[in-house]
Amino acid sequence: METVKDYFGSLVFDDRVMKATLSDKVYASLKKTIDEGTELDIGVAHAVAIAMKDWAVSKGATHFTHWFQPLTGITAEKHDSFITPSPDGGVIMEFSGKELIKGEPDASSFPSGGLRATFEARGYTAWDPTSYAFIKGKTLCIPTAFCSYGGHALDKKTPLLRSMEALNKQALRILRLFGNDTVKRVTSSVGPEQEYFLVTKEMYEQRPDLRYTGRTLFGAKPPKGQEMDDHYFGVIKPRVAAYMEELNSELWKLGILAKTEHNEVAPAQHELAPIYATTNIATDHNQLTMEIMQKVAAKHGLVCLLHEKPFAGVNGSGKHNNWSIATDSGQNLLSPGATPYENAQFLLFLCAVMKAVDDYQDLLRISVATAGNDHRLGANEAPPAVVSIFLGDELNAVLEAIENNTPYEGTEKKQMKLGADVLPKFNRDTTDRNRTSPFAFTGNKFEFRMLGSSNSIACANIMLNTAVAESLRIYADRLECVEDFETALHEMIRKTIKDHKHIIFNGNGYDESWIREATERRGLLNYRTTADAVPHILDRKNVDMLTSHGVFTEAEIKSRYEITLENYCKTIVIEANTMVDMVKTQILPAVSAYALELARTSAAKKALDSTLVCDYETDLVRKLSVLSDRIYADAAAVESSVLSVTAAEDIGAEAALIRDKVLTSMGELRVACDEAETLTAKSYWPYPTYADLLFSVQ
Ligand code: ADP
Ligand code: MG
Repeated sequence: METVKDYFGSLVFDDRVMKATLSDKVYASLKKTIDEGTELDIGVAHAVAIAMKDWAVSKGATHFTHWFQPLTGITAEKHDSFITPSPDGGVIMEFSGKELIKGEPDASSFPSGGLRATFEARGYTAWDPTSYAFIKGKTLCIPTAFCSYGGHALDKKTPLLRSMEALNKQALRILRLFGNDTVKRVTSSVGPEQEYFLVTKEMYEQRPDLRYTGRTLFGAKPPKGQEMDDHYFGVIKPRVAAYMEELNSELWKLGILAKTEHNEVAPAQHELAPIYATTNIATDHNQLTMEIMQKVAAKHGLVCLLHEKPFAGVNGSGKHNNWSIATDSGQNLLSPGATPYENAQFLLFLCAVMKAVDDYQDLLRISVATAGNDHRLGANEAPPAVVSIFLGDELNAVLEAIENNTPYEGTEKKQMKLGADVLPKFNRDTTDRNRTSPFAFTGNKFEFRMLGSSNSIACANIMLNTAVAESLRIYADRLECVEDFETALHEMIRKTIKDHKHIIFNGNGYDESWIREATERRGLLNYRTTADAVPHILDRKNVDMLTSHGVFTEAEIKSRYEITLENYCKTIVIEANTMVDMVKTQILPAVSAYALELARTSAAKKALDSTLVCDYETDLVRKLSVLSDRIYADAAAVESSVLSVTAAEDIGAEAALIRDKVLTSMGELRVACDEAETLTAKSYWPYPTYADLLFSVQ
């Protein structure tokens, strides 16, 4: 029988295939590009292209595509076949180094936020040799970056690679100061935990809201929701198990290290986590994972919902971005070391993260800002919109001791003693678990928990990498010119703790009192919605920092501001229009039809016995009549709120109107409709209910 070991990575042009199919010289040269980021020459590219094509054709591929991640947040591909006519009337399969390195998709329909004039429709894609090519269906997919002809990034991968480079550069400066001359490269790695819902295709098809917007826009609370906590880590139902099994094997074939799977808090909610990988590869893999989750679901008569909040009143879906930085020799720089010296280095990197998260709270919040995720953050199920760091009691006590110059006395059982000269030595703390923190230290990595389930992880990691690179730059600038390194280091760590400790919060992030303390006493930012957060990407301090590391140009930042807010506005307007459509064409007719039946019943009963009162029917008809009038008026209010938005003078004003007017009117319309659902006979209600949807997959 074929085992996982046999087929793992079978659809990937990975190191094993490269070694087997390339000459030693070509392999060595490509490897150098992958490991050290050196430039690739065209001769090598050509040899790689031929080997790649032969391998892909032997696996049944007929086409190739440059696979990229435009600013829409999903992936894009345009397929070309390998065929070239041969003189004898047949075809040969061809693929050149030039085609591998560069592609020119017609880019006019991808969002550019003003970066590309309409006359300059073309953009180009450039091969990212650090992420392996793979086969999907009959197509060889080549991971690429996507730019305009002016050289502006039109995608998420280009700035991500730049941010990794910025972090590498600054981290190396710090490591050199600690006397490490051998490390060649520092990279960040990520393990994203992906949450999702499964519903049956049959029910999904009956809900225009799910089909058009990915979430339910109506739905009364079911008699049973998640209050029993009986789903979390519960036994996986057979149909879900079959789905997960196929999903795993599809991911494994693509070399994606799918590792854990379990049921989540809400009914019908599940999670998949891979083993972590280098950030750009983890990003590619997460995009592929989301795509394959949906594909495999379709084969099982299911639909995989990746929306952050498919159901009101039930936990939404997030994505935990486990992040750390490591050297090419395998040392995790966020892992406490065995010697005081290593610990000093660890503490400096820890401080760099602390400073970065505090100085750029806004950028982190912005990096996860979407209309969908706004429903989660701060809704007592996900971290609040306020960014803070959880460190755990022990690490916290270490920092306090350093700040106050007091000896550190750890708990006995952990055998934590004050270190020799410079900084205290301590063991890593693996016991603490705080699920409510947006940014938690978990022993040797940080878990950034604000990402929404449908977010590309690129955005969060671009901001994280760059903000940390900025802290490290400031440290290196200072430490490179001091005489007494150890004293300066100690002072720098102390100063960071003093200046930034207000970002540390080890308590319950869901608590209302925390939000008050955070905003009123500590002065932390609280951008509740995308419309509030995103304009701050244009704040001078943010533009200066991002451009100084070469991660974005100012024009690219402006384009992201435009696109993110445009996306927010479009998403909500589509939701509003869908609601109005559902109300007019299905909900109101259903309520009227049911009211008519009740009225007829009442009339028929009275005809039989004129003394009858018919309380039940009469009362309900009255209620439904009042409600349907309200629904009718509320729907008109939604329509006019959508119209009022067109008067906004720019995208920032438009987003603010959407937040204040459209969302509010949608909320009112929903309340009335949900009440009508509870009063209308099930046989009349046009949609599967929450109970139907949430408990449909067995
Ligand atoms: P949980 O958060 O549920 O306790 P784990 O801590 O075991 O689970 O891991 C969660 C994710 O963190 C996994 O994807 C794992 O591969 C990833 N992870 C573990 N170590 C690192 C690291 N050094 N860098 C980045 N991600 C990591
Ligand atoms: Mg986790």
